[in-house]
Amino acid sequence: MNKINTKSSPLPFRRLVGLALLAALLAPGLRQAQAQATAGVLNLYTARHYSSDDVLYEKFTKATGIKVNVVSAGDEALLQRIKSEGAASPGDVLLLADASRLYAAEQDGLFQATQSASLEKAIPASLRSGNLWFGLTTRARVLVIDPARVKADSVKTYADLASPALKGLVCTRTASHPYMISLIASQAAHNGADKAEAWAKGVVANLARKPKGGDTDQIVAVASGECGVAVSNSYYYARLMRSSKPEDQAVVAKTKLIWPDQAGRGTHINISGGGTLKNAPNKDNARKFLEFLASKEAQTDFANGNNEWPVLAGLKADNPALKTLGDFKRDPQAIGDFAKQIRTAQQIADKTGWK
Ligand code: FE
Repeated sequence: MNKINTKSSPLPFRRLVGLALLAALLAPGLRQAQAQATAGVLNLYTARHYSSDDVLYEKFTKATGIKVNVVSAGDEALLQRIKSEGAASPGDVLLLADASRLYAAEQDGLFQATQSASLEKAIPASLRSGNLWFGLTTRARVLVIDPARVKADSVKTYADLASPALKGLVCTRTASHPYMISLIASQAAHNGADKAEAWAKGVVANLARKPKGGDTDQIVAVASGECGVAVSNSYYYARLMRSSKPEDQAVVAKTKLIWPDQAGRGTHINISGGGTLKNAPNKDNARKFLEFLASKEAQTDFANGNNEWPVLAGLKADNPALKTLGDFKRDPQAIGDFAKQIRTAQQIADKTGWK
């Protein structure tokens, strides 16, 4: 695996690859096998950056002989790069977090269809966009409260975030961020644009402070007393739960996670996922790679790397924090249904000044 990234530390593996190459060069009998093994290449562009993912790529190489070259960067930088590379892009697969980003890439025409009966069988139709891109892990958009300031009973739903009872208590990141846009889009898909806008207006009226920071910052702000309730993706809370840092443990001790809409349609679910890039030079390898990530062998590990849940039906997350948080009712809304409302959601975010 070649890796162009500064975030994680692939050095030990690189050293292993170096040793393997050296051994192949020194042993004439092995030369042909090595050449075959390196004949296949998969160029991966990913916005995920977990060392557990690297281990999976190595497993894929071991199973298929296909070498994975990883370009790891932020979502926007990757999309920009693919667009500027155009038809000459070496990228085969693009992995992104959040349906709204995958939808944006789809709208920009960056994906091509992946013909794979096994992918279509493994991943429910509600968690993919036809065969253009595929959800590979799921995450929930949850609420985190300070039980000393906000009663769990008063924030049972997303709608409650707009209730006058929470005036001056709500914290979110800016609504121009994909995670918030997806949540607003989900509200628009369920209730219509007008109701979603009225809801957004109500949430903005309840903000404890101007939106700033990421999801973890919102959780920390609840613990510090700046906010009474925050909106966050589930894995940020699970990450704090699994942290050994005393300050993270203190944040978890001070707060409580709420699964919204349990008596109604269920908690909003989003995905991270990917698809074959439009100009993929190694289209077949791209399919094999996506099939591998959706396989029983890879699914739990892939989701676990970011404290998420597998997409594969019947597979349970093997994660102590998620186990502690327990089961919850998920909104069965198809990802594609709210993805279509992304533009409406952006307009709502602008109109209501949720920034
Ligand atoms: Fe995130």
